[in-house]
Amino acid sequence: MLCDFHLHTDFSGDSHTPAADQIEKAISLGMSRICVTDHYDMDVVSPCDFTLDLPAYFPAMERLRDDYRGKIAIEIGMELGLQNHIAPKLLEASVQYPFDYIIGSCHFIDGLDPYYPEFFHDRTQTQAYRRFFEVTLSRVEALDCFDCLGHLDYVVRYGPSKNRDYHYGDYQDLIDSILKVLIQKGKALECNTGGFHYGLGHPNPCEDILHRYRELGGELLTVGSDAHSPDYVGYDFHRTRALLKACGFSHYTVYHQRTPIFLPL
Ligand SMILES: [Zn+2]
Ligand SMILES: [Zn+2]
Repeated sequence: MLCDFHLHTDFSGDSHTPAADQIEKAISLGMSRICVTDHYDMDVVSPCDFTLDLPAYFPAMERLRDDYRGKIAIEIGMELGLQNHIAPKLLEASVQYPFDYIIGSCHFIDGLDPYYPEFFHDRTQTQAYRRFFEVTLSRVEALDCFDCLGHLDYVVRYGPSKNRDYHYGDYQDLIDSILKVLIQKGKALECNTGGFHYGLGHPNPCEDILHRYRELGGELLTVGSDAHSPDYVGYDFHRTRALLKACGFSHYTVYHQRTPIFLPL
């Protein structure tokens, strides 16, 4: 089973799952290594509190890592919400503890999370998606506090018609630029299988983007379920392995001490 490098626990404001439950599920699926990546979105206005209590979180994960030694390797990560105006705070958080892996994600665009319909008010879906990719590009260009860009086309989970009218080619200028910056900066791209359990029929990002990343020379590719509960740990990973091979990858990547390790697919 592929290693799941995007897992949430009850340290995330939107999960009620104790970390041990996620770990036990990963062991039952035969995973040799996982990474816990709880949310940390700073300076956002949201009904959900996405602050991560680092002084509580990091030692708690270290204890679990010790408790499960020999059964499964636990890497300690977080999913950091990227925003350019807080660049120094993000960098500080990323080095405050010896994290193994940091996902950089774009959850809030112009102060709004596409999860909420307000993001799509007063503009077409295409305009809203384009704005999401524009802002993502400016963030991957400006920031260096992360190892991997999470769910590159997250926005298509929530548009009025989701991904039904969504084609990579309509945004190729922006998406190719994002991919090129990632490659040039040595940052990974994530294949997030949350897209499958959101009913998109595709991962985030979609296969065309994964294929394009490989075509442009991208090699650092991580795999994560984005599970907030045990039912979704390793979600559709069997299908994902074949999908990634079809996109041209022979290996995927895990991280330890912020350093990539290649594993065969
Ligand atoms: Zn996310
Ligand atoms: Zn997540």
